[in-house]
Amino acid sequence: MNIIFLGPPGAGKGTQAQRICSALSIPQISTGDILRRAMKEGTETGLKAKKFIDAGQLVPDEVIIDIVKERLAQDDCGKGYILDGFPRTVPQAEALDTFAKIDCVIELSVDDQVLVNRLSGRRVCLKCGATYHVSMLGEKTTCDVCGEELIQREDDKAETVLNRLKVYHTQTAPLIGYYERKGLLRKVDGDQEVDAICGAILKTLGVRA
Ligand code: AMP
Repeated sequence: MNIIFLGPPGAGKGTQAQRICSALSIPQISTGDILRRAMKEGTETGLKAKKFIDAGQLVPDEVIIDIVKERLAQDDCGKGYILDGFPRTVPQAEALDTFAKIDCVIELSVDDQVLVNRLSGRRVCLKCGATYHVSMLGEKTTCDVCGEELIQREDDKAETVLNRLKVYHTQTAPLIGYYERKGLLRKVDGDQEVDAICGAILKTLGVRA
């Protein structure tokens, strides 16, 4: 099954994609993770992307479309995949239609106020992508999964968060109508416990938990 996770930053796309991918044994394709890895490695793409990401802006469509096209052509995507963070603009969705057949789009909806709180308190592991919230970390500063030091993403800082939400509402939210018109959109309430959201997504996908 080829699935898109759509939703504002902080809606829980990454956390849920990780769980659903492991339940379905399919890869999670997070464009944010790919770009952050490229930035860490200092590749040409990483250097190009950095100024957009740090400002809370989207990287140019042509950069991200090529990355996704190449990634979906790899063998492990043959059985299906979850796209987490792509597409984020209508031109990206139109490009995707030329090289992929999407079966379902899960929209995770969450109020802006909840998102601001989630994002500004988020800490991430740059090695494995695991995410945490400061309210649950206490004194802990390392990742439970791989032991790496946790960081606050530059773009999770308060001013940038507001900008990212603005970008979501203007550039990405039109995709809700785009996929609704194609009959592919399924809405899931993202303001619940992580397990409840996961259960709701599996039910929507017709998979038994
Ligand atoms: P994320 O981890 O999905 O929140 O992505 C972090 C940042 O990476 C975004 O704020 C954008 O700057 C960039 N990014 C990730 N995916 C895309 C995309 N599909 N199109 C443009 N920029 C993206």
